[in-house]
Amino acid sequence: MGLIVQKYGGTSVADPERIRAVAEHVARTRHAGDDVVVVVSAMGKTTDDLVRLAHDVAARPSARELDMLLTSGERISISLLCMAIIDQGCPAVSFTGSQAGIVTDTTHGKARIVEVKADRIRDSLAAGDVVVVAGFQGVSTARDVTTLGRGGSDTTAVALAAVLGADACEIYTDVSGVFTADPRVEPNARRVDHLSYEEMLEMAATGGRVLALRSVEFARNDRVPLHVRSSFTWAAGTWIRDKEEGMEDAIVSGVTHDVSDVKITVDRVPDRPGIAARIFRALADEAVNVDMIEQNVSRDGHTDISFTVPADDLDRTVTVMGKVAAEIGAGGFTHDTQVGRVSLVGAGMKSNPGVAAEMFEVLATEGVNIEMISTSSIRISCVVREDDVERAVQALHAAFHLEGT
Ligand code: ASP
Ligand code: MG
Repeated sequence: MGLIVQKYGGTSVADPERIRAVAEHVARTRHAGDDVVVVVSAMGKTTDDLVRLAHDVAARPSARELDMLLTSGERISISLLCMAIIDQGCPAVSFTGSQAGIVTDTTHGKARIVEVKADRIRDSLAAGDVVVVAGFQGVSTARDVTTLGRGGSDTTAVALAAVLGADACEIYTDVSGVFTADPRVEPNARRVDHLSYEEMLEMAATGGRVLALRSVEFARNDRVPLHVRSSFTWAAGTWIRDKEEGMEDAIVSGVTHDVSDVKITVDRVPDRPGIAARIFRALADEAVNVDMIEQNVSRDGHTDISFTVPADDLDRTVTVMGKVAAEIGAGGFTHDTQVGRVSLVGAGMKSNPGVAAEMFEVLATEGVNIEMISTSSIRISCVVREDDVERAVQALHAAFHLEGT
């Protein structure tokens, strides 16, 4: 028999009743003959509550202590879920990230996994136990408790699936899979049955909230088959894995959006070699995730540079830019939070010219102004006014015929 990794998000284990329902499903999977490793998030909104509590006692909570605090949420859910699984007559044991051998770098708040020493998990599986691991956490090379960034339990699950050579990594959530658009914005959105790793990567990177970006990177690198599905209906959901021979690529698989980005504009940047390198090196050194970058035409030896960063990185960006703008002799910089990004993703774009043109025409017809554009071989993204985002998603979803048939 095989090995299945099952990951349950916060809503799947929000209360005792949900925990018992999950325990039953885990026991069912185990009794059917597979070995099972379960990764679980904190119950319901526990992590949000803990973040709020931290800000109630300190204006700027220490990153190390915040990690110490947040990891406690998953300790509650692993132990409770384990008790419920044992109660189903199924031996089970829980591990914190550190006990499970998840070793990370030392970047508190968004640590990267550098190694998984899974022998303790393997021993427990060999002894016949279901292993329940706390998601979203690890222990750093400096022996401190770390977290992997919000939504990081997905990453824990996929990293374990990769290291253990699992047959599949099932991501259980409160929706039935990955949709052609966010159903809260586009009621006609439809569940997609199958996506390639590359498509899922682009979706996760552009606001598709179902999977954490890093988890998809892990899955792609190790070709871990992912199955995103509901823990409320237990029905089959969306598979993310290599396409089988002969399957045709959709030109557009989905429309994603994200309103959490901030646009930074640096004015009157001296136009000479090395300046862009100084700006973006300084940001990179502070772990700011720069996304789109645009540089305007140079006029009298100066140019403007605009780029977007996640809202979470804004404080750090402002601090870094305050220093760098002065050092390079720029005019100054501003930030604009009222922007949003709309993206089309589809593997078939590679071989179908004209998708960008059609996207821009649809936005033009809607009177939506495009402020920045970026593309990859299977994605086109536009930065627009935040107020225009929902209308843009709906118009694109209709224009590319993504609604259910
Ligand atoms: N509990 C963490 C969070 O809320 C990790 C996760 O849910 O994946 O971000
Ligand atoms: Mg999540």
